[in-house]
Amino acid sequence: MINKVKKIVKGEKKIDGAGVQLIRVIGKPDVYDFDPFLMLDAFDSKNPDTYIKGFPWHPHRGIETVTYLLEGEIDHGDSLGNSGVIRDGECQWMTAGSGIIHQEMPQPAPRLLGTQLWVNLPARDKMTAPKYRDFKSSDMPVIEDEGSIVRIVAGEFKGAKGPMEDITVQPTYLDVTVKSGGSFYYDTNPENTLFIYIINGSLIFPAEDNKVLPAWQAVLFERGDKLHLKTGNDGKARLLLFSGKPLNEPIEWGGPIVMNTKEELNQAFKDIEEDTFIKEHLADGTIRNEQVNKSFYR
Ligand code: FE
Repeated sequence: MINKVKKIVKGEKKIDGAGVQLIRVIGKPDVYDFDPFLMLDAFDSKNPDTYIKGFPWHPHRGIETVTYLLEGEIDHGDSLGNSGVIRDGECQWMTAGSGIIHQEMPQPAPRLLGTQLWVNLPARDKMTAPKYRDFKSSDMPVIEDEGSIVRIVAGEFKGAKGPMEDITVQPTYLDVTVKSGGSFYYDTNPENTLFIYIINGSLIFPAEDNKVLPAWQAVLFERGDKLHLKTGNDGKARLLLFSGKPLNEPIEWGGPIVMNTKEELNQAFKDIEEDTFIKEHLADGTIRNEQVNKSFYR
């Protein structure tokens, strides 16, 4: 069955962090429709004043944050002592799990272009050990045919696998360029949530009278097993495709923390207040409060 458009979400301009202008493409109002995806923020700016204040030290728990940067540079550091720079074409996949305190600071560049996706963690993994994975663009396989060029950020496409291997929710994340006058075909999993976000160009949708799909908005599809997108003859288009199996669990969302129950959310904020937010994971599976050198991140 061919996938049809279920819903188009316009997103909204927002200022977040210490003053970063962004487009919140999906977020709280649509969260159950996009399950297991919680949020998609998009950045596109040629003016460093709109992003330079960045996202200073803040906590996360219960989710994964996926930063995919097409252009620009983001410095990051965290309470575990990790630090580094995300550059053009690179992806940082962070499992916040039981808790991490980090900062994400875009640096001045000719253009900042990229996205941050939040993927929910199932109840059984909300309190897992935090983990970072950094992928270079050369880590991501590229599959080209006559109609499109597909870079695999996560998941599989035509037998090739993305670099991510141990993600709890096993999403597919593709960066797709559809050539001028070309087509992109994707065998979708009927059990999965599927949506795209068009970064540039325009796409038309043959399954519904060649309707034009809007750029800079999230296009959520009905369940199906075949997606076909094409460009007109007026140029190529670039889109991000996201697909993942819904968790079907209750969602309690408080800022950078997403849990299943109010009690868990309250506990997280209590932990922040009492400086017991960062946990240590022992080899036998027990979790205890970690002694964190707070001077490091405050
Ligand atoms: Fe963050």
